[in-house]
Amino acid sequence: MRRFVDDDAGYLDWLAAHPDGFVINTLRKPGPAYLVLHRANCSAIGGLPTYGRQWTAAYAKICGDRDELEAFARQGLGGEATLCGRCLDRTVTPGPHAPPAHSYPVPQPGSAPARPPQLERRSPRTAPSPAHTNIGIATRPAGPLFAPPTSDPLRLDVQPRLASWNTAGDPDQVRLQAFLAAAERVVRPRLETLADPLVLRLDVGLPPATPLLDQHDLDNYLFPLVTHLAKRTGRRFVSAWATKQTSETSWVRVEQARPVHGSPIFDRPYTVRTTASSQSSGFKQQIHDQLSAANPLPDGPVWLQLAFTVGPQRNWTNLWKPTIDALDPILGSITPGRSWHPRDGRIIELGLHCHIDAALGNDVIVTITANQPRTGSGYAQR
Ligand SMILES: [Zn+2]
Repeated sequence: MRRFVDDDAGYLDWLAAHPDGFVINTLRKPGPAYLVLHRANCSAIGGLPTYGRQWTAAYAKICGDRDELEAFARQGLGGEATLCGRCLDRTVTPGPHAPPAHSYPVPQPGSAPARPPQLERRSPRTAPSPAHTNIGIATRPAGPLFAPPTSDPLRLDVQPRLASWNTAGDPDQVRLQAFLAAAERVVRPRLETLADPLVLRLDVGLPPATPLLDQHDLDNYLFPLVTHLAKRTGRRFVSAWATKQTSETSWVRVEQARPVHGSPIFDRPYTVRTTASSQSSGFKQQIHDQLSAANPLPDGPVWLQLAFTVGPQRNWTNLWKPTIDALDPILGSITPGRSWHPRDGRIIELGLHCHIDAALGNDVIVTITANQPRTGSGYAQR
């Protein structure tokens, strides 16, 4: 058994010499909280580190055969090695090694944190608006959709930040980068145990003085987080969820995406199809025009689900903002007469889904469902 710290060259040599070996990825100071077992040939722990990352700096690598590594985890470190979701999927390698139960310690320093919010199961709205029928030029059903993550949440120790388009030294940008780095630290160990494709959920806690239904747009929290994690880890996110509420604590979850079929998530959806570039105002205009028959939802909080069906060349995260910008026929407009300023701050729960259809080319189909929580649903209404 070998342990490598600050020795990428030695580590990569060991991998090359032991293609049938195993590796435990752990913290620089190994401990039971983070022990993930990989095959030596797993892409998660070998090859060229991306973006100047080092293999053996922030994380140490303990290398050997599987039995000795699992025994060392148990006896030497007092923990169970979790199996990598990519190279040691339980369905692929049953073998003689019974996989340990997945258990993720949720760090709970100091005072007990508030429980993270639970997503409600929907029942169809009791008083459907007559406009809530299929409109638009595409009638193809969306799907599959992905279930909202419900696994143990990871507590964020840095307050989530909104997307910032300011330059690198700007204070907003600095705080955003600090949040992204902190979130990555929290999420990365769990990501490593999961197989693609992935779903992420962010529950944003806002201070009591912050109005819940104004600004703090959920897609502007999700966009920098999902793009950052995808870029830094090379992982594939096909669904992203966010909620906001008055709370001292914010949480994040990552899971393997689970498709749901025939789900009540999409209740009387609108379906629209666009052909324009997402960077052009034509993209928003086409969506807007196809929603012109919609009635705006009454005042109050909104649950929004968007399912994107795109060709393989499209980066679906770039579609979130221009699509939501075009939803003023449903959400209402902040400044009537001014385009692309919907009242999207009142979205308190957002679910985004991506489905690839190679036949679509550059077209995008978006299936849209907007609902309102029934009174007394538990969400603060401000
Ligand atoms: Zn692996």
